[in-house]
Amino acid sequence: MGRKPKDSIVKKVKHQKLKKIIQAPKGMPDILPEDDQFRRKIYKVAHEVADYYGFGKVELPIAEETNLFLHGTGATSEIVQRQMFSFKTPGGDQLSLRPEFTPNLMRVYLEKGFFNLPKPVKLFTYGPLFRYEQPQRGRYRQFWQYDFEVIGDGDPIYDALTIQLMYNTLNDLKIKNLLVEVNTIGCDNCRPIWRKNLKNYFHSKLKKLCSDCQRRYKNNILRILDCKSEQCQPIKENAPKMIDYLCHDCRSHFKSLLEYLEELQLPYEINHRLVRGLDYYTKTVFEIRETDDNLALCGGGRYDYLVEILGGRPTPAVGAAVGVERLVEILKNKQTRVTDNSQKNRLFLIILGEQAKKKGLGLMETLRKANINVAESFGKDSLKAQLRQADKMNSPFVLIMGQKEAIDNTVIFRDMKSGVQELINIDNIGEELKKHIKNFIV
Ligand code: AMP
Repeated sequence: MGRKPKDSIVKKVKHQKLKKIIQAPKGMPDILPEDDQFRRKIYKVAHEVADYYGFGKVELPIAEETNLFLHGTGATSEIVQRQMFSFKTPGGDQLSLRPEFTPNLMRVYLEKGFFNLPKPVKLFTYGPLFRYEQPQRGRYRQFWQYDFEVIGDGDPIYDALTIQLMYNTLNDLKIKNLLVEVNTIGCDNCRPIWRKNLKNYFHSKLKKLCSDCQRRYKNNILRILDCKSEQCQPIKENAPKMIDYLCHDCRSHFKSLLEYLEELQLPYEINHRLVRGLDYYTKTVFEIRETDDNLALCGGGRYDYLVEILGGRPTPAVGAAVGVERLVEILKNKQTRVTDNSQKNRLFLIILGEQAKKKGLGLMETLRKANINVAESFGKDSLKAQLRQADKMNSPFVLIMGQKEAIDNTVIFRDMKSGVQELINIDNIGEELKKHIKNFIV
């Protein structure tokens, strides 16, 4: 049992009317019915791709022990340093709302003994994440992702497969103008040499960098490379590239990946500045962008040390995630046609009087079983008010049940455009309606 809120707080709010309407928390938007059709489509496509490639779905808790992200996401990452919603439970546990999915899925992998399963283990998840960001277009404090992880195989073919399947989800959603950007950030053998060279390179230019990058110089120098500030662009121009320092293993890994991408005919580019924000990446990092709006839709990479950091055996892995809100924005802008399940354009059911009201709900169930979508406003009593509502909802056909019809087990079918009416028996209403309104059968 959780503890009760403190009595003093409860007393304070008792019987007190609010002077202002409470708003949704900043950066945590409501998901409204107008977006639902797009989100359902995205959900469906992600699940279809997960099924096809054999990914098992995991539903994760919204909060995890803060330690999981300190060690997993990494203490020097932007997410841990500035973006976590952390809190202490009444019992004294230190938790954080999940800012990403990868460490959490690795926790499941270790905690549930998935390392005993045949490798690679493929996991998939879908849900909301929380990062304390400055809200702006495409960037929220609560946002959704779908995420795929392939655990237990270090072959670059799985880097390519991950990129391909993420690309497929976007392609299946008919999102055009996609570009895969790839890079390698090496491993513990070769990256320290690159990092040292970056330190040397930026040392004399430190004062010219933006204030964020001056901080990054100390604790996360790689991130200077993907800083978006105008001021830093010319300074980074001649910065050392990882590709010039790769060890033999990392070089051949990257070469193989590029060959796979060629073979798959994916549109890709090498971006030497791409490093991604998380501490755990090794070798491959990638993003998929929509080039029209220059929006990053998908981010991912290989993370061969993470399972070990979290207490498991050395286990190579690769994964990626796509942000749902950005997809919704694109689908909405392009007015991509998806199935319209909205309440508009439906057959409208009107009931008049007590007797009909009693039968109305049952009639709705009969229609549902016959796969006929209906709309209603049962709370309105008059014929005029209900017809007005039908008109607002663009219903081309209306069913009217009054006292007499309720007793006779019939209903009036009315074509709103022509005004023509016909009496239909409820017993075979499904068949009767199907003759009249083929378009309304789902
Ligand atoms: P990340 O988890 O940072 O690798 O990001 C993967 C993808 O999630 C990005 O390409 C975006 O599409 C999306 N994303 C990341 N952060 C946010 C955010 N704050 N708001 C909305 N979408 C986000």
